[in-house]
Amino acid sequence: MSEEIIIQPKILPLCYKVAEHENVVWVCDGAANVGQIGHAVGVLLTNLDKARMCCTTAVAAASKPHLEIAEKAKKNIVINGCGNRCASKVMEKAGKRIDYEIDISKYLQKVPTLDIYQADVKKIAKIVINEAKL
Ligand code: SF4
Repeated sequence: MSEEIIIQPKILPLCYKVAEHENVVWVCDGAANVGQIGHAVGVLLTNLDKARMCCTTAVAAASKPHLEIAEKAKKNIVINGCGNRCASKVMEKAGKRIDYEIDISKYLQKVPTLDIYQADVKKIAKIVINEAKL
């Protein structure tokens, strides 16, 4: 059995309390490589303190605090795995502003796998940081 590595978790500020000063990231978290890369990009941007990932499904579920977070956010950064733009449609249906959106499948081929490469995560994160001016 391999030795477990214990990592101190990075405790994030509550989205609700910081939204107006933060770029908030909404990912589709789709069940394909591009959706999972989008999820990993959201995590990376959060851990780099470039943005704060929030719960896209909660917006789709009309959760009041999450609708308010989307309303108050400094910038809403929306990361879609493919051209279906599910995360963007969630925001549009909720009547929320989208300040930047990306379709990852324009840069990487969509493949039905949940296995992803860190190099792809970094590539997409760099594009988002540059284009959204994070
Ligand atoms: S945008 Fe594409 S990858 Fe993301 S949830 Fe929708 S269909 Fe799946």
